[in-house]
Amino acid sequence: MTAPRRTNPALDCPRCGRNFTSGRGLFQHLRRTHGLSSAEAQALRPKTVWRCAFCRQEFRGNGPLTRHVQTAHQLTTLPLGH
Ligand SMILES: [Zn+2]
Ligand SMILES: [Zn+2]
Repeated sequence: MTAPRRTNPALDCPRCGRNFTSGRGLFQHLRRTHGLSSAEAQALRPKTVWRCAFCRQEFRGNGPLTRHVQTAHQLTTLPLGH
């Protein structure tokens, strides 16, 4: 059994191709270098995805994933880090 894994998509600036190690860095770069508004930068920023290890469904956060595993797969705790 594999634990739910947090996957980071490639954090490349869609405007100039510069690579970032965090979504926050890319977000600030889009605003400062390319003059995007907060909403525009947010829309271009890659989403961090949490994937269910049992059915491969994707979630936008650890909370929704935990609730999904508990209800859909009848587990009370996530098999994390063991
Ligand atoms: Zn850029
Ligand atoms: Zn699932």
